[in-house]
Amino acid sequence: MPKIIHYRDKCIGCGICYEMQPMFWRMSKKDGKATLIKALHKKGIYILDINERDREESIKVVEACPAKVIKVN
Ligand code: SF4
Repeated sequence: MPKIIHYRDKCIGCGICYEMQPMFWRMSKKDGKATLIKALHKKGIYILDINERDREESIKVVEACPAKVIKVN
């Protein structure tokens, strides 16, 4: 199953991921960074299982993130 992986500490809060995939992302009102909705959290890294059909769009978000803090496997 593909996964979105977010290295949240280095997120700069630009909001592009949220604009492109609002079903997976929201912007935190606390610290201004992106939050991967319903993700598992391990040591500052957030991981979310996604469906194969969402993988292609998610890769576009990876490429658009200016801080390069998102991965999709
Ligand atoms: S696109 Fe990248 S830097 Fe911008 S808010 Fe999303 S995760 Fe953070």
